[in-house]
Formats: sequence, structure tokens, C-alpha cells
Amino acid sequence: MPDCSSIAIVPAELARQLAELKVDYPPDERWECDFDADHPGDEHWTIAFYGGAGAKTGEDVWLRWSTGGEAGLVEHPGCESDAPSGTEEWTPTCYWVKDHPGLHSSGDERW
Ligand SMILES: [Zn+2]
Ligand SMILES: [Zn+2]
Repeated sequence: MPDCSSIAIVPAELARQLAELKVDYPPDERWECDFDADHPGDEHWTIAFYGGAGAKTGEDVWLRWSTGGEAGLVEHPGCESDAPSGTEEWTPTCYWVKDHPGLHSSGDERW
């Protein structure tokens, strides 16, 4: 399944905030939607940074945008659904935003 091709338009003020938070990303990175191509809905999401890296509430912080619109930061839990392939040693978890459309994804695995 190819990825959604939507790219976030990050306003300058938001880019400045992200830089101030010292989020570990190259400043010219393209922020692409996490989801699959042709996912339902008009909201695109990708992780900005995980909780503890600057979020006041400890929640994960995401970039969310509608097609053609500017992205904003949203604090929201991650999905963290456990993959059925999990073992006692290690269980992959879904790294997308909670309540995302479609199947769960750990990158390598879908369920
Ligand atoms: Zn998308
Ligand atoms: Zn999930």
C-alpha cells in the first residue's frame, strides 16, 4: 500500500516553535502524512514529537492538516495497538495517532 502523498504546509510561526522545542528533525524536512494512500477523511496526521519531548501534558504531539490547509500542532494519544505477532520479549505497537483510519501499522507490519 503506497503512502498518502499529502505534505504538511507548516506556517513559519509553527516552524519556529518546533525549532525552539528542539525537536530532532532537519528544518527542511518534508512532513508527510503517516497514513495510506486514499485513506478516508480529509485529515492528515504525522508525529511531530513523542510525549516528554516538550509537551505540557506528556501526550504525543502531532501535526494535523486538511488537504490544502496549513498544519497545526495537536496533543493527542498515540494508537499503541499491540501487533498480533508480539512475543513475550517484544511486541511491535502501532505508531500512528489514536483513532486513525484503516489498519494499524508498525512500519513493517499491518493488522
Ligand atoms: Zn493523508
Ligand atoms: Zn493503530
